[in-house]
Amino acid sequence: MHLDRYAVVGNPVAHSRSPFIHARFAEQTGQAIEYGRVLCPLDAFVDTVNAFRAAGGRGCNITVPFKLQAPGLAAHVTERAALAGAANVLRFDADGWSADNTDGVGLIRDIQQGEGFDLAGQTVLLVGAGGAGAGVLGPLLQARPRRVVLANRTRATADALVQRHAALAHACGCELAASGLDDAGTGFQVLINASASSLQGAGSPVPARVLAPGALAVDLMYGPAAEAFLAWARQHGACTRDGLGMLVEQAAEAFLLWRGVRPQTAPVLQALRDELTKG
Ligand code: NAP
Repeated sequence: MHLDRYAVVGNPVAHSRSPFIHARFAEQTGQAIEYGRVLCPLDAFVDTVNAFRAAGGRGCNITVPFKLQAPGLAAHVTERAALAGAANVLRFDADGWSADNTDGVGLIRDIQQGEGFDLAGQTVLLVGAGGAGAGVLGPLLQARPRRVVLANRTRATADALVQRHAALAHACGCELAASGLDDAGTGFQVLINASASSLQGAGSPVPARVLAPGALAVDLMYGPAAEAFLAWARQHGACTRDGLGMLVEQAAEAFLLWRGVRPQTAPVLQALRDELTKG
């Protein structure tokens, strides 16, 4: 049987759970695809993606550290990927690459549908203005929270991202500001850690005063690396959610873009949690 080929392209890429997720989506929807991993040399992103395409690839996910390069190389870039300045999905069309960013919409869907938490009218502290933070900010604003502060270690990066999203924030009726890590303010109803601090095993990049009583604290990381941040948040009275649901939701949105069918995410998230628990 002919199988359409997809892959995740990154460096490193061996740890990626995307092949597991897309294999479950394919089974569930009856789509004839295979999905693998492509380890891409740091200086050969374009050549590696084009070689995968020439070998029959129909599209790919892009992960660290290539997300920021992808939009500049594509023939078509969705509005959300352009606003983020980063893409995590490519589809190979007849006239070139089509780039999209499904990270943000994946996170928001996981918070609102997976966790059942309505972001409308809430105050949100988003920490991190790298590829992930940039992808999350637009869809977060579209969920119409009352106020969003984007905090980043390098303040100038947060300032630039906030400036780029000012018109969208205005259109969504949301107050948007930038800050450093120590001066974000206090008492947010939602804290989203989209920084890479958990990758370095750090607890929280921001002080506990940012949490309102009973706040929701989300780390984009998952597995043991997220545990220090999530334990810190629980210790300070927050409800917590890791980034595994986002991982599945962003993949579902990519699957929809490639195949025109949206898979169900809940059973795949459960299967992935079971798989990770087995170790
Ligand atoms: P990135 O582009 O390298 O950006 C890293 C961000 O983290 C920057 O804002 C950086 O600040 C900040 N940072 C790094 N070390 C820090 C520290 N010790 N304290 C505070 N801030 C620190 O990485 P990324 O692609 O945005 O990824 C960020 C995280 O999201 C990673 O943990 C990644 O695994 C996770 N992620 C998860 C999913 C998912 O589906 N669950 C998807 C995408 C990403 P500066 O600007 O000052 O350097």
